[in-house]
Amino acid sequence: MPDVIDASDRSAVVRAAELILDGGIVAFPTETVYGLGALASSDRAIGRVYAAKGRPSSNPLIAHVADRASAAIFAEFDERADRLAEKFWPGPLTLVLPLKVPSAISMVMSAGLSTVAVRVPAHPVARALLGAVELPVAAPSANRSGHVSPTTAAHVAGEFGNEVSLVLDGGSCEVGVESTVVDLSDPDRVRLLRPGAIDRQALERLIGPLCAPAADGPVRAPGMMLRHYSPDTAIRLDATSVDADEALLAFGPKPLEGAATALNLSEAGNLDEAASRLYGMMRQLDQSRARCIAVMPVPAHGLGEAINDRLRRAAIADGKASAA
Ligand code: AMP
Ligand code: MG
Repeated sequence: MPDVIDASDRSAVVRAAELILDGGIVAFPTETVYGLGALASSDRAIGRVYAAKGRPSSNPLIAHVADRASAAIFAEFDERADRLAEKFWPGPLTLVLPLKVPSAISMVMSAGLSTVAVRVPAHPVARALLGAVELPVAAPSANRSGHVSPTTAAHVAGEFGNEVSLVLDGGSCEVGVESTVVDLSDPDRVRLLRPGAIDRQALERLIGPLCAPAADGPVRAPGMMLRHYSPDTAIRLDATSVDADEALLAFGPKPLEGAATALNLSEAGNLDEAASRLYGMMRQLDQSRARCIAVMPVPAHGLGEAINDRLRRAAIADGKASAA
């Protein structure tokens, strides 16, 4: 298991930055989920991240930076990108933009594409780390490819051995689902590649309607129906009744009765609370040894679009095409 250290200690952040600059992998908290950080300019460091996750090399990583100015060194911003960055950065929004040429971004990280995904996270530990590294840091979710994303340091430590040098423990992630990914690389068609922590309505108010991911786009986009975010136990969606050998993932004030074990995403029916609890509860129910996890319906508005997206992909039975 990797070393886990308390991130509130400033020397921990300095040590983590040194490890990253040295080509190592450090897990750190963001407001969405924990990320597996490595130097975005180093083919070798990035190669280690793909290997540690078991992630297909065709699935590019997000470059994390301290501010918009650091992003503009390697990514081309147009007027809409500026508006989104101005409103939502720092925060859980990832922009896919044209990659400037030449750039220091590893071709391994960007999967050889002419675009790059970039984000400025808001979590104080992530900000301190990026400030100390002073270079872009690739940081995919700190889980093995296809598995449930981690929202605590303990989740991360349980997934990896010493291929991860260090885990910075910053407590539970507040948002709990991944960043929203918006592709602005085609000015005629701005696409929502992955619903996430910033909801569609908030984005559309600022830049107009968002298109679906292109079926034949350069990346099998994260919004596509690939198995992902999956516990080992089977998942049954939109449950209106539950069996005695099933575990229940409930939502709202009237949980179904009769399950072997049950957890409620939000008794109050609050979607923010449900998102923050989703992955932790999926992990807990996965350990209950129930035949199946039955999930009650979750409304589709606001953060519900991201929650339903993750649940749908967690429920896909065929594990061949994962893309974490
Ligand atoms: P994760 O690293 O697990 O948070 O996932 C990041 C997501 O961003 C992946 O699913 C990628 O497919 C997506 N992504 C990263 N770079 C690009 C890009 N240049 N074009 C489209 N999608 C991208
Ligand atoms: Mg992931």
